[in-house]
Amino acid sequence: MAEPVIVYKGGAIARYGFGDPHPFGLDRHDVFHEELAAEGPGDSICYGSPRDATVDELHLFHTADYIDFVSKKSAEGGGYLDGGDTPAMPGIFEAAASVVGTTLAAVDAVMSGEARRAFTPIAGLHHAGRGHAAGFCVFNDCGVAAEYLRARHGLKRIAYVDIDAHHGDGVFYGFEDDPDLIFADTHEDGRYLYPGTGAASETGKGAARGTKLNIPLEPGAGDAEFATAWQKIEDYLDAARPEFIILQCGADSLEGDPITHLRFTEEAHASAARSLCEIADRHAGGRIIGTGGGGYNRRNLSRAWTRVVQAFADAS
Ligand SMILES: [Zn+2]
Repeated sequence: MAEPVIVYKGGAIARYGFGDPHPFGLDRHDVFHEELAAEGPGDSICYGSPRDATVDELHLFHTADYIDFVSKKSAEGGGYLDGGDTPAMPGIFEAAASVVGTTLAAVDAVMSGEARRAFTPIAGLHHAGRGHAAGFCVFNDCGVAAEYLRARHGLKRIAYVDIDAHHGDGVFYGFEDDPDLIFADTHEDGRYLYPGTGAASETGKGAARGTKLNIPLEPGAGDAEFATAWQKIEDYLDAARPEFIILQCGADSLEGDPITHLRFTEEAHASAARSLCEIADRHAGGRIIGTGGGGYNRRNLSRAWTRVVQAFADAS
């Protein structure tokens, strides 16, 4: 019998991060896994091992010039990959390739039927563009996964759903003119928070105009405002009928995050995961993966992600 939920664990993804005092520290993986082991669904999950993405896989989303740039900066070490948010740590290329490869492993596990759902904590690096690093994100594992689902698994309509406090600009602009990338993102209003994008008026361009959903929330918005936004996301996804769902469940939208101003509780993340499993069951053969995304208060990220995994297990 197939295991219902695979959760990825291992040093290859734990090493993705930046040393003190950077908020995306190297302890986030272990903090989550300690909470999951103590409070998670126990025997109804199993653990998967990270794998590295190949350069060909990175190239499904990223430009060759950018991949070469990261490789060179990573070998040199020092400085930044962007204007000052994302340090060029020695070995960051390999760590970022492991994050992408592990998200692709999650995709493969769900597509093959090995798992009903899958979750990888150090992932959901949604700010990286096709040709640039941004906001602590080197390679965009969700963007690569969407292209991989098309190129390697023959799917067409992939849904990307993002409840991180920050707008998923790397995914949005990476597919802005692509009507088959179903995009729903609720986030703190860009007038108050990095990266400054994601206005409700941004619905796609060209052939995709009017097909994407951005829902900015005022600073201080909590579970009630999230529930109102979620109803719109649910209706949008039901109309769009995705074949696969990628959830980016950044925990920096919870109250107490040090760099954002939303005030969700972890119940927002649990309810989103429950709802998405139902939507996946209605339209996508149950196929969904979760990626951890942001979250810089360790208690919040460990609890929110554990609730997502619990919801995946309960819905399997
Ligand atoms: Zn974030």
